[in-house]
Amino acid sequence: MRKTLIATTVAAALALAACGDNTAPAQTATETVAEAATAVEAISSNPLMVKSTLQYEAPNFNDIKDDHFLPAFEEGMKQHMTEVLAIANNPAPATFDNTLVALEKSGELLTRVSRIFYNLAGSSSNPQRREIQSELAPKMAAHSDNINLNPQLFARIKSLYNQREALKLDGESLRLIEVYYERFVRAGAQLTEEQKTAIRALNEEHSTLTNQFSQNLLAETKKIAVVVDTQAELAGLSDAQITAAANAAKEAGHDGKYLISITNTTRQPVLSQLSNRELRQRVWEASANRNQSGETDNRPIVARLAQLRAERAKLLGYDSWASYGLESQMAKTPQAVFDMLGSMVPAVIANTNKEADAISQMIKQQGGDFELQPWDWEYYGEFVRQAKFDLDESEVKQYFEFERVLKDGVFFTFQRLYGIRFEPRPDLPTYHPDVKAYELFDTDGSSLAIFYADYFAREGKRGGAWMSSFVGQSHLTGQKPVVVNVMNIPKAPAGEPTLVSYDNVTTMFHELGHGLHGMLSNVKFPTLAGTSVSRDFVEFPSTFEEDWAAHPEVIANYAKHYKTGEPIPSELLEKVMKSRSFNQGFDTLEYMSAALLDMEWHSLSADEPLQDVNAFEAQALKKHGITLAAVPPRYKSTYFSHSMGGGYSAGYYAYMWSEILAADAFAYVQQQGGLKLENGQNYRDNILSVGNSRPPMESYKAFRGQEPTTDALLIRRGLKTKVE
Ligand SMILES: [Zn+2]
Repeated sequence: MRKTLIATTVAAALALAACGDNTAPAQTATETVAEAATAVEAISSNPLMVKSTLQYEAPNFNDIKDDHFLPAFEEGMKQHMTEVLAIANNPAPATFDNTLVALEKSGELLTRVSRIFYNLAGSSSNPQRREIQSELAPKMAAHSDNINLNPQLFARIKSLYNQREALKLDGESLRLIEVYYERFVRAGAQLTEEQKTAIRALNEEHSTLTNQFSQNLLAETKKIAVVVDTQAELAGLSDAQITAAANAAKEAGHDGKYLISITNTTRQPVLSQLSNRELRQRVWEASANRNQSGETDNRPIVARLAQLRAERAKLLGYDSWASYGLESQMAKTPQAVFDMLGSMVPAVIANTNKEADAISQMIKQQGGDFELQPWDWEYYGEFVRQAKFDLDESEVKQYFEFERVLKDGVFFTFQRLYGIRFEPRPDLPTYHPDVKAYELFDTDGSSLAIFYADYFAREGKRGGAWMSSFVGQSHLTGQKPVVVNVMNIPKAPAGEPTLVSYDNVTTMFHELGHGLHGMLSNVKFPTLAGTSVSRDFVEFPSTFEEDWAAHPEVIANYAKHYKTGEPIPSELLEKVMKSRSFNQGFDTLEYMSAALLDMEWHSLSADEPLQDVNAFEAQALKKHGITLAAVPPRYKSTYFSHSMGGGYSAGYYAYMWSEILAADAFAYVQQQGGLKLENGQNYRDNILSVGNSRPPMESYKAFRGQEPTTDALLIRRGLKTKVE
């Protein structure tokens, strides 16, 4: 759950990739031959305008320049709209082929350029790309509305929907009709013209605000990096971290000083190490007060976004944005989510209080005479962990060398489970020297997909970890997947091996779990492929793979000392695993606080006034009995990208929902003999390959033989003991 989902910007772009602009002016008759010739030339020299000739249409990053994006987007929207209007205005009665299959084939250029651009905007941002993003945001929103709100097009989809049973289609085609119909209805296709105009205006404003939110956040996160004057203040950091901080300061123009960059969550990794309390406070405050002042203040945006979403929900006939959002999810209603989270609050708070007591005790023991503050939690928590588990993270890390984790851990597991293997493809161009390309092969040796591994932190990359696609799978278009995993692992200085935390080890399994959901997709229609499933299902295939990191056969294969190759001592390994249950109260509570905050913001009705952000946050948490000042939410509203900036509004709870499925599935597979091909095949056939081509619970039951229970989740989190 500490991992981000699929890149939200890309998910938004992909949702948009099914859309056009019927208000675009027709080409004027006054266009001269010379102008037309220039246009043709611009098209032919722009590599985005044509399909890449590289394997599986992998982008040729060597040829793509930032100047190519806007013209390709413009042309892509134009072409797409022409295609969509031809479908909508077709005089022949609607058929599955002339409407839905045609829509699925439309927008080829726009899809291509969107996927490439939004991927790069997330993983390798620069000023020009940010400018393009701002310019595109309202245009893409309008393009999307022009399709979703086209009455002729909706009439055709509705007519297919009404006769869907009589059409005698296969299951996937039937599902496609239902998915399209629901998408159009939810976008406002049944509204009056007046309501549609209102929705369009709200959508454009929404798109501009979410984009502004993300840009403010990116700018501010860079700006608030903490500059430290002396090395003495950095006591507690390793030599490598100090060198990295000195290099970062130099790059940022603070030669001779040290720079601590701020990561995306409220809590900051260095807080567990820094012994200087004042510096800890500075770092924590820089993080927690993010985007609350100056030009990049996100508070007015947050307040308006919450109100605007409520207004949009009201137009569509719902009480709140949460009611609207959850209807299409597995959870169905906001109440189901409040019930799920609420039922856990007492147990989680009880655990967290115990942890706080132990930490306060430790502060006293260390001679401290102050009340536990959020910036103390991790530092003194580390001493409690040491006392309890006697675990030295830097010793542990020596057994998790990056390359070995990837090849002998992650790739090894997937070979044993699914029979697949990854081969390096150094010949394929990538968008940064740190990014490595691989080709994925099936059990029978046939080629399945291209995979880019982009694991290391760098400037311009969004925080967190995610998976995304450059090319989606579809039998209809004959396309095979080109998928990327992006993470922010701190890279070791040149010539030294990168050692990763066990936390990052599980994230590598997690993200490639999403990766396989994309790469092992085996469906006909692009709309239903891979990770295009409901939000509270999408984290299931990724979370499911996390626990293999600790499977005895797997860990024996990869957890070896980076110098000697000695396997991790069993005693140390046991400590690592036991210590995983440590701080579960805090971890769960900070997550639940953020999930509840997200739900509360989106439970507002349209009649309520603009909220005071800080007051609203405090009130929302208090309402659910969460008042521990030392445990702030994992994200506060002004930097809560999932909730405010991206596609997870009223959806942050989904991580836990998916975790219920993942824990249940993993426990089931262990009962069936664990790491073996038969288990992988069942999972691949029923979950990974089907995408959204059938309802998620149907897929789950096909795999598992029954619906999931929460038992395995509670055991996984140490909130319940296993009963044999
Ligand atoms: Zn994920």
